[in-house]
Amino acid sequence: MKKHVEGAAIRLENCSKTYGSSARALEPVTLNIARGETVVLLGPSGCGKTTTLRMIAGLVAPDKGGRILFDDQDVTDQPIEKRNVGMVFQSYALFPNMTVAENVGYGLKIRGVPRADVKIRVNEMLAMAGLETFANRSIDQLSGGQRQRVALARAVAARPRVLLLDEPLTALDAALRERLRTDLDRLLRSLGITAIYVTHDQQEAMALGDRIVVMSNGSIAQIGRPNEIYFQPANRFVAEFVGAANIVEASLKDGFLELPGGRVQVGSEASSRREAIAMVRPEAISVVPPEQSSWIGRVESTSFLGDRVRISVGEAASTPIIIDAPNSLSVEIGDRVGLVIPPSSVRLLPA
Ligand code: ATP
Repeated sequence: MKKHVEGAAIRLENCSKTYGSSARALEPVTLNIARGETVVLLGPSGCGKTTTLRMIAGLVAPDKGGRILFDDQDVTDQPIEKRNVGMVFQSYALFPNMTVAENVGYGLKIRGVPRADVKIRVNEMLAMAGLETFANRSIDQLSGGQRQRVALARAVAARPRVLLLDEPLTALDAALRERLRTDLDRLLRSLGITAIYVTHDQQEAMALGDRIVVMSNGSIAQIGRPNEIYFQPANRFVAEFVGAANIVEASLKDGFLELPGGRVQVGSEASSRREAIAMVRPEAISVVPPEQSSWIGRVESTSFLGDRVRISVGEAASTPIIIDAPNSLSVEIGDRVGLVIPPSSVRLLPA
């Protein structure tokens, strides 16, 4: 959790959204976000992430019956300028004809903050965003990553209680995105601001979120800390959307799960079910010589990924099994290999 908590707690109560006469874009959502927390809304295109974010901002009104509270104050009918939120978008929305410092100070200036105070705050924000040496540059002399830092510095300059970020890093290349993600994480934590971050990138979600809200088709599929979402996905959709997942056919008998490679004992709750889907993450499976396992397959592809090797093994189940093995593993396409799954790494999902 964060050090200097200044942000607001947010509560969405029964918030749904229907645009005009189209089908409901967002099913009724109830969600509590703690002060200073970073919550990531994660899901595929069109699942309702931006709608939820815009509702919190005050740019979209929930359908009748929905309520939005900041701390204990009902802000449902308040417009965006009354809510004290900062926003950062994928497109930077900066003023191209102003310098970096002017962009960052703009919001303060139009609020009538005295010029000397604006200057102090702008310098603070530039230092925080690592932009001190760029203060007098114009926006078109900056790289994409620098522009996004300016947008962020501008959004937090007015000390909002809530920071809303809609895919802020999506337009940047992979290396820069990773670097900015680390900076952003540090920044959000040091500010103590409540942040809601929209992305369809699961790595970004895991790296930044205190909690992740996984959305699908206008509904919340699961809310949890990143490790809960990864290790205990609530259903197949979450398992496959967050990280890579092997879905293995399995039948349950007498408290045992029959997997292609053998039997795994399961808890009493699961044993009352007949059908189940067993999910195993690629890094949980070990590759061994074929004589050391009763579960055998044939290597169909290998990709060296630097920190690990990802291999695909066919003939072991009805669909190829994906395995992330240590980068020292040396196998060739066509090799017969044995697979081993530790029982504790198998997660049963509703069929
Ligand atoms: P993306 O990642 O593509 O931005 P999203 O998860 O943010 O998607 P939303 O933008 O919230 O999804 O959209 C949810 C649904 O609502 C979509 O089916 C979209 O077409 C619809 N929608 C969004 N805004 C409007 C609007 N102003 N009028 C009508 N339909 C809309």
